Amino acid sequence: MKNRFGEACLRSLAALAFLICAVSATEATTFTVPADDDLIIGARAIVRGRVVSIGTGLDERQNRIFTYVTLRIEEAIKGRITGRRLTLKQEGGQVAGRGSLIFGSPQFSPGERVLLYLDTWQDGSFRVHQMFLGKFSIIEDPETGRDMVVRSALDSNAGVVMAQSHADKARGAATDRSELKAYLKMVRARLQANREVAASFEAAHYSRIPMLAEPPEYREGVGGGGIQPQFTLIAPSIPTRWFEPDSGQPVTFMVNLEGAPVPGIIDDITASMAAWSAVPGCNLRVTSGGATSECLNRGGGNVIVFNNCDGRFAPTPGCSSIIALGGLSWDTSQSRVVNGTTFFRAVLGFISFNPYSYCSFESSCNIREIATHELGHALGLGHSQHLDATMFGGAHFDGRCASIRQDDVNGITFLYPVTDTGGGPLAITTGSQLPVARRSALYVQVLEATGGR
Ligand SMILES: [Zn+2]
Repeated sequence: MKNRFGEACLRSLAALAFLICAVSATEATTFTVPADDDLIIGARAIVRGRVVSIGTGLDERQNRIFTYVTLRIEEAIKGRITGRRLTLKQEGGQVAGRGSLIFGSPQFSPGERVLLYLDTWQDGSFRVHQMFLGKFSIIEDPETGRDMVVRSALDSNAGVVMAQSHADKARGAATDRSELKAYLKMVRARLQANREVAASFEAAHYSRIPMLAEPPEYREGVGGGGIQPQFTLIAPSIPTRWFEPDSGQPVTFMVNLEGAPVPGIIDDITASMAAWSAVPGCNLRVTSGGATSECLNRGGGNVIVFNNCDGRFAPTPGCSSIIALGGLSWDTSQSRVVNGTTFFRAVLGFISFNPYSYCSFESSCNIREIATHELGHALGLGHSQHLDATMFGGAHFDGRCASIRQDDVNGITFLYPVTDTGGGPLAITTGSQLPVARRSALYVQVLEATGGR
């Protein structure tokens, strides 16, 4: 495990809505779609960037839950934004035992590319202007390969009644979808055309309100645990996942046992694979492909090694504090959109245990925790900032062995959601006729069924 400041992600809206049933508040909102000019004039800032982390916290003063979305800024189209990072403060989210959902609040995913219209809270913290209407996702058109901007749609499960009357002609066009290049050109042109109106709008409404790169409470909240970022992707700027689970195939790792610290380690590895393979709502299955004498298989086989054959570890005079590394390689020529994020295809995964740290391998339980954590990396997860998560950057060694926690479950389910819901009524699909039954004579017939879930 190596220490790295991880990134995080919002739970899926569906999961959030479920959790909220027990405790919290929901708000409904009705919308009309604003004209492009209204957004361009009304927003204090317009930025293009990528979501690198998401965390939630309870503001005890206001008794409201907020989600903090940190972006890596690629371009500031409007507004005095000089830094490369910006943290937005959106209302709603989930903290321990409590949640709230504001219908109409924009939803974000780790690694997502976005174009955002922003305004500020009274304290200068940024938020998306006009709720979800000011959020556009940037996605690649699979047919043309060109980047498109697409206004976020509300989740159809949110149950919001939405009066969607597009802006009338007098207010100008309202673009929901466009090629990115053309859209940026349009925004710059309209910004130029409306420069004076925009300046007087800013002066009239925000003259005393700063624009803060992060909310005043953010740093202390993250440091003190009041804001809990959640799971992260291993490379937030290059989201990566295995595609095998999409077609019902397992992700398979071979094990090179040479130099293994204990003879029974294969059982520990198998246990860690099982931990990631039995998650409800997740279609991932990880299996052992048996023993190998290979180190890193260039042919595409994933391997787990113990003998430093990859040369990643240097000798240390004492017991090394770097215990193991896990990761994956990907192919950028193959991509797929899952949960609103474009993922590249993982093609080679590995886990390498550090032989110079074996002096600290006190128990099979601890080895299982390490194997589970590193396997999480090889499956596409980064470090969680949630202290309890097995994907947290430091080892717990608290007896958890090969187990994962809720935040890990959220992460792996985000990467590998069950997409075939088995919808429709239960139906027997076996085509062959049943045998003729005779009293007291047993027979076997295998029936296949679909649906019913
Ligand atoms: Zn790690």
